[in-house]
Amino acid sequence: MGYKTDIEIAREAKKKPIQEIGDKLGIPTEHLLPYGHDKAKVSQEFINSVQSNKSGKLILVTAINPTPAGEGKTTTTVGLGDGLNRIGKKAAVCIREASLGPNFGMKGGAAGGGYAQVVPMEDMNLHFTGDFHAITSAHSLLSAMIDNHIYWGNDLGIDTRRVVWRRVVDMNDRSLRQITSSLGGVSNGFAREDGFDITVASEVMAILCLASGLKDLEKRLGDMIVAYRRDRSPVFCRDIQAEGAMTVLLKDAMQPNLVQTLENNPAFVHGGPFANIAHGCNSVTATTTALKIADYVVTEAGFGADLGAEKFMNIKCRKAGLAPDCVVLVATVRAMKMNGGVAKADLGAENVDAVKDGCANLGRHIGNLKSFGVPVVVAINHFVTDTDAEVQAVKDYVETQGSEAILSRHWELGSEGSEALATRVAEIADSGRSQFSPIYPDDMSLWDKINRIAKSIYHADEVLADSKVRDQLKLWEEQGYGKLPICMAKTQYSFSTDPTLRGAPTGHSVPIREVRLSAGAGFVVVVCGEIMTMPGLPRAPAAESIRLNDEGAIEGLF
Ligand code: ADP
Ligand code: MG
Repeated sequence: MGYKTDIEIAREAKKKPIQEIGDKLGIPTEHLLPYGHDKAKVSQEFINSVQSNKSGKLILVTAINPTPAGEGKTTTTVGLGDGLNRIGKKAAVCIREASLGPNFGMKGGAAGGGYAQVVPMEDMNLHFTGDFHAITSAHSLLSAMIDNHIYWGNDLGIDTRRVVWRRVVDMNDRSLRQITSSLGGVSNGFAREDGFDITVASEVMAILCLASGLKDLEKRLGDMIVAYRRDRSPVFCRDIQAEGAMTVLLKDAMQPNLVQTLENNPAFVHGGPFANIAHGCNSVTATTTALKIADYVVTEAGFGADLGAEKFMNIKCRKAGLAPDCVVLVATVRAMKMNGGVAKADLGAENVDAVKDGCANLGRHIGNLKSFGVPVVVAINHFVTDTDAEVQAVKDYVETQGSEAILSRHWELGSEGSEALATRVAEIADSGRSQFSPIYPDDMSLWDKINRIAKSIYHADEVLADSKVRDQLKLWEEQGYGKLPICMAKTQYSFSTDPTLRGAPTGHSVPIREVRLSAGAGFVVVVCGEIMTMPGLPRAPAAESIRLNDEGAIEGLF
C-alpha cells in the first residue's frame, strides 16, 4: 500500500474558517486578527482579559537523543492534541514557527507529518504572519543604530573591536558569517569586523519567546548587551535608546498565531528560538494564553530531552511560573535499533535484539525527567514497518524503568491512532501526581548550576573550564547576573559533547569552550563544542527544485 506525502495530505485538508477554530476556545471574532482565512493572531486585549482564568494542564512532548531515523516530536504533539480532542477534551497544541532559511537547504517541514499535521503548512514554513521578518527588522534597527552612534562621534565610548551585537538575516548564507562592514571611506563610518547569524539565533527571538508582555519585552530588549568599552564595561541596548522603536516593530509579532490541525483543532504556532544558544520552545505568551482557554495544552521542546526538556523546565517553566503535569517522551523502534548499532539502510528488517540493545538511551531520559518530579509516559511513535515483537521489546524495557510505554499510530491514522495515548496522558495530568521543581535553585552559583546539569542530566564525571571561563562567570555574579539560569549549547546527538557517543555514556567530561551572557533573554549560554549560528546550504539546495506549478501551487518544498 502506498502512503501519501505530507504535502499531499496537507493539501487535502478540509480547513475550517479560523473564526470557527477560535470559537472552540471561546475567542470572540473581534479578538481574532485574521491573516487570510486560515490564520489569525489573538489580540493582546483578549490575552489580558483571560489572565485570571484557571490554567489548564500542561503536557510537554520531548524525545530521546535524535538519530537519523527520525523521532517525530512535532508529529506526536499534534497527534496527541487531536487525540485529546477526540476523547472529548478541550485541548490545544503549542508549537514553534519555522525558520525560513533551512527550507531552502534540506527538504522538511516543521508542521508535523502524516495525519498529524498543522495547516496551512506551506505558509507555516514560509512567511507565515511575518513574525520572523519583524524580528529581523527590530534586530537590524539596533544594528544600524549602533554603527550610527559610532559614526556620529561614539559618545558612549564603544570599543569597535568589541561590538557583540551581530547582524541577522533569515537565510542560510555561510558567506556572511564573518564580514567587514563600513568599507568605502569616511562617509560610510569606521570599518570593523562584523558578521551575520540566522534570525532565529537573535537574542530578540529568545526575548520575544520569554517576555510576559509588551512592557517586559521592552525592558528585556533594553537590557541586552550590545558592545563593551575599552575598560570592558558593557554598553546596553538602552544606552543606544533603541528598545522603544524595536518594541513598536515587534508589537504584532508578540501576539500568538492561531491555526488548525488536519482535524480542525486549535494550534498555536508562535516563536522559534534556536535550541542551542537559546531555549528552543515556543513563546511563553502562546503557552500561557492557551492554558487560560484550553483544559489541556500539548507543547514541544526542541532536540532530545537532555537539552530541550531540561531548558523547558529550568528556563521557560521557572521564568514563566509554569509546571508540566505530564511529560511524553517520544521514542521510535527505528531509533532504538540505530542506538543498538543498526545502519540506517537496514532499519526495515526486524531486529528485536538491536531494539533491546538500544534502549539504554531511553532509560536514562526517563530517569532524568523523573528527577524534575514529573510523571513520564513513553509514546512509541509507530512507523508502519515496526513489528509487534519490536514494539513489545520497547514496552517491556520501559516497564523495567518504572514507567509505561504506549503505542501511538497518529501518523498513519490521525486521532484514531492516538486515542490510547491521549486517554492515559489525560488521566495522569488530571491525577495531580506532578511535583515539578527545577533541578537547581536560582541562588546556586553559575558554576555549580553548570555542574548540576552536567552531572545529573548528562551523567558526566566533571566539567572542564579554564580560568578565563570561571573568572567570567564570577564577574557576572558580581555584576548581578548570578541568579540567571543556564542555557547549555552542546550536540543534540549524545548525552556527552561527542555526537558519536550514543546510548547512555558515563565517565565523560564536559569541556566548556566559551560562555556568553544573554542579559535581555535572561540566561547564561554555556557553549560546549562547535555551535553554528549561521547555517550554510548543501551542495544541491532544495531551492533548486522549488517552484510554482501551472496551478500556482508550490512544488518541491516538502
Ligand atoms: P521532530 O519534531 O522530532 O523534529 P517531526 O515530527 O517534525 O520530528 O518529524 C520529522 C519527520 O518524520 C517528518 O517528515 C514526519 O513526516 C516524519 N515522521 C514522523 N513520524 C512518523 C511516522 N510515525 N512514520 C513515518 N514518518 C514519520
Ligand atoms: Mg519538531
